[in-house]
Amino acid sequence: ATSMSVMLAGCGVLNATGSGDDASPGKGDDVTVGLLLPEKANTRYEQFDYPIFKTKVESLTNKKGTVEYANAEADADKQASQMQQMIDDKVDVIVLDAVDAHAIADSVQKAKDAGIPVIAYDRLAEGPIDAYISFDNGLVGEVQGRTLLESLGEPAVTDKIVMMNGSPTDPNAKQFKASALSELKSKVTIAKSYDTKDWKPENAQANMAEAINAIGADDIKAVYSANDGMAGGIVKALKAAGVTDLPPITGQDAELAAVQRILVGEQYMSVYKSYPDEAESAAEMAVARVQGKDIQFDALTRERVNSPTDKNIPAQLVPVVALTKDNIEDTVIADGIYEVSDICTAE
Ligand code: BGC
Repeated sequence: ATSMSVMLAGCGVLNATGSGDDASPGKGDDVTVGLLLPEKANTRYEQFDYPIFKTKVESLTNKKGTVEYANAEADADKQASQMQQMIDDKVDVIVLDAVDAHAIADSVQKAKDAGIPVIAYDRLAEGPIDAYISFDNGLVGEVQGRTLLESLGEPAVTDKIVMMNGSPTDPNAKQFKASALSELKSKVTIAKSYDTKDWKPENAQANMAEAINAIGADDIKAVYSANDGMAGGIVKALKAAGVTDLPPITGQDAELAAVQRILVGEQYMSVYKSYPDEAESAAEMAVARVQGKDIQFDALTRERVNSPTDKNIPAQLVPVVALTKDNIEDTVIADGIYEVSDICTAE
């Protein structure tokens, strides 16, 4: 396996303070953190990432710190101007979840030139990134691929699968796809594979309608969907084609609608990624960076070399687990992400 988890095991805990040597000498609690999130079509960002991050920054700074927040709504140009605004506003640190990891590199350079460290959040942006916090994205794809195989029992190599991947501008999407494929290939046939522009559910729905036309709904044994929002679009396309007995479909994010679909058997699995673990660690990292405190890192990025600039960045990668009907209680309920009453609403 090429996942980060393998790399982490050999690495131990590194102590680093980030690659930017122009670290501020340290500040008190009066910290301004810029947070740039990529989109709203998938629910996680506005429902979890932003509010959890903001609350944590406030509690770490005795309510003196502030978060300047912007959501780019899947528009890379918009994100560049949002980031420019934060540079003009002289925020102390920027936490960036890029719409387009390559296109934003110039803005990352501008921030660095202005003395503002940029922490990559969830998606590893290019340019002089100071530190990276994410989930173990290689593991996400593996877990998806493995669980999909399990759902098929004894899959035949001739079993036709549709693969719905994320946005090509998101390096995570490439990782999810590569590690899912490492599990799936040679076990089943990938009859059709799509990239999904902007990770939009409606684009996944359109691609799925195309796949159904090409393959025939009855011949589709399973669908690999990179996330839950797209799984929602895929289910719509299948239902519109008259399918009542849905094939196993994967996802990721533990979106509320997906957890509900899993319960009623309309989606096989999701990947549960603890939002508090990621967003609170990012807040800690950002505040520590401004205050000149040490940060604990797990590893240095080195396996996903999309560009010369994304190697050897101090990184912290949070583990993930498969979410199926069997462990809803032990995951999202136990962690307080949802109440039973959120999931089981009266019709
Ligand atoms: C994130 C996923 C999310 C997707 C679409 C990825 O980079 O890791 O959690 O579903 O983007 O926004």
